[in-house]
Amino acid sequence: MSTPKPGSNRDSTSAVMWFRRDLRVRDNPALLAALEEGSATALFVVDPAIWATAGPARRAWLAANVLALADRIPLTIRHGDPRDVVPQVADGRRVHVAAETTPYGRRRDGAVAEQVELVATGSPYAVGPGLVRNGSGDPYQVFSAFARAWREHGWSDPASTPRSPDLAPADSDQAALDLLEEAVAEAPFDLPGAGEDAAWRRWRSFRDDGLRDYGDERNRPDHDGTSRLSPYLHLGVLHPRSLLAEVPHTSTYATELAWRDFYADVLWHAPSSAWSDLKPALEGMRYDDPDDAIEAWRTGTTGYPIVDAGMRQLMHTGWMHNRVRMITASFLTKDLHVWWPVGARHFLDLLIDGDVASNNHGWQWVAGTGTDASPYFRVFNPVTQGLKFDPQGDYVRRWVPELEHLPGKSAHEPWKSDVGYERDYPLRLVDHADERREALERYQAARG
Ligand code: FAD
Repeated sequence: MSTPKPGSNRDSTSAVMWFRRDLRVRDNPALLAALEEGSATALFVVDPAIWATAGPARRAWLAANVLALADRIPLTIRHGDPRDVVPQVADGRRVHVAAETTPYGRRRDGAVAEQVELVATGSPYAVGPGLVRNGSGDPYQVFSAFARAWREHGWSDPASTPRSPDLAPADSDQAALDLLEEAVAEAPFDLPGAGEDAAWRRWRSFRDDGLRDYGDERNRPDHDGTSRLSPYLHLGVLHPRSLLAEVPHTSTYATELAWRDFYADVLWHAPSSAWSDLKPALEGMRYDDPDDAIEAWRTGTTGYPIVDAGMRQLMHTGWMHNRVRMITASFLTKDLHVWWPVGARHFLDLLIDGDVASNNHGWQWVAGTGTDASPYFRVFNPVTQGLKFDPQGDYVRRWVPELEHLPGKSAHEPWKSDVGYERDYPLRLVDHADERREALERYQAARG
């Protein structure tokens, strides 16, 4: 362990490792690069700009994972604008990071790099944004072509784990620690286990028991058929490269990880697409702003069982199954005719895996303003989707107690049952067939 230099007001390590979306020790090339300098100070900065915009669930999840990292290595935790804090802690030393690629992260790092030497090694992605390009050097617009080129590009093997890293003793602000501890205490619901060990346990259990049937099971919200690793991947508690090292590159699971890299790539090339339409084709689209209906969507009281189940799963756990994310997003944009950023904002407030690239481009995919040939005229039917992907109604009954008494698939259509509304389940907010027609008319009008 390094000891402070006499007369110096900073510790005597040779470099700083600034953790952001890479809250892990295993397979962390930026940490190794910092340690190659001899010794390092491990730093996490609670950034008020991020803190203020994350809802209580995301704050709690971030805090729990920062504290879990601090249990594992001596981590100096400070509170303040990284543009001030990082140069102050660095005090002339080089600062190592994993490259950040979101619009905010790039701006922030640009400003910090004007004051310190910032060395970026790796990124939160298997293949970092900007690296996969077509023959003309342009970014891919379509996922299937991106995924092919992504596999051809490939990724490095997982990096080694430092055995006994030479890190300075933690020198944290009490105020920063208090903020993190308060955030964990104020978590609106039980969070998954935080930290690397919990993430690896989750991965191993999925790899051994779930991966084989993932291709069939991944669309079933009534089964626990997906890895549930998105919250860990989002904060870099696990790196996708570590997972890709343990699955065939042609597997469906690898393809899902490619979606994550794809959306990061799209956002990197078009930062303004975080909050505005990526494709201008639907610029003239007419949207509504129905306060009461948006509130019914948020609170899971639209009268469409699968939509309500999804929105309540989100509200009570900070996570929602992918199939149901698509159904609920389609309902807001096509049945209620609301512009997608309204829904994307709400998801980001509540999701513990809330990620501006995957979320906002997931929303744009559904809304028809984003990448890929996701046609606007694809309007998810919330009833047939429910019957197909939750065929016994188990998912709906799990999250919507007012429908618990309806057996099997009848939970998807309470209006067909004499006792469907006896427990005060709300009537359908809109008629899906009418709204589908309306959505298509608006679409035609916008396309001219
Ligand atoms: P698995 O099925 O086990 O997949 C493994 C991993 O692959 C995921 O953890 C994730 O990192 C990646 N992945 C899978 N599907 C996608 C996808 N369509 N796009 C990008 N990455 C994917 N994912 C987020 O991580 N954060 C978000 O904020 C987010 N918002 C979304 C919003 C909408 C409207 C939609 C349609 C999708 C969104 N997704 C988001 C993608 C997807 O729903 C989640 O990644 C997935 O549900 C996470 O559960 P899992 O880890 O069990 O997934």
